[in-house]
Amino acid sequence: MLFQAMNPWCAKAIILVGTLAIVIIPASLHPRGEATKVVKSRKGRMERVLLTLTSLGFFLPLVWVAAPIFPFADYPLRPVAFIAGIFCLSSGLWLLYRSHADLGTNWSITLEVQEKHQLVNQGIYRRVRHPMYLALLLYSSGQALVLPNWVTGPSYLVALAFLFALRVGPEERMMVEEFGKEYEAYMGLSSRIRDCRDSHAALARRA
Ligand code: SAH
Repeated sequence: MLFQAMNPWCAKAIILVGTLAIVIIPASLHPRGEATKVVKSRKGRMERVLLTLTSLGFFLPLVWVAAPIFPFADYPLRPVAFIAGIFCLSSGLWLLYRSHADLGTNWSITLEVQEKHQLVNQGIYRRVRHPMYLALLLYSSGQALVLPNWVTGPSYLVALAFLFALRVGPEERMMVEEFGKEYEAYMGLSSRIRDCRDSHAALARRA
């Protein structure tokens, strides 16, 4: 039962719904006109290449839904992967919603600091420094499980893995430059992508 081949249209429907949600979440939480002036930008060549790669990884699954691209890489969809994938996709979308809501107007698609930028270290950011990246990794892992094609299934996950591996360092350096000791203290209390209650507990014990 759990390993019987399923109709690939089940995967196509989930990919369409997930893609719609991933576009609607930021659009609904950051209405047009909300953005403030950018005072510092780190959108260099590397960042542009990474953003292009991520867009490609994001759109390939949609092309697969519409047309039979990379048919040699298709494999049968199994309920076990489909269910695990839906779990990852929905938890990724929930975390994406939470992090967009907490980051508010400080969010931007690339590396930049805005005029009235505030350091967010509460809500989901209290213990995890990069919940949005974690959310996208969860979402794209779900997509890799749900979409039964070895090329288009993991395309977004692979692109995001590159983006995050090469972006987190420069992003944290930019934040230290902007917020100095406040961000350094925050780094001591939070983990990059994991919840780290222990460091809070240890600090509370020391105090
Ligand atoms: N890395 C974060 C945010 C991604 S959005 C996450 O994964 O949740 C990228 C922008 O968010 C960066 O340009 C930076 O200006 C801003 N940013 C990152 N962490 C922040 C924080 N703790 N408080 C305020 N802005 C932050």
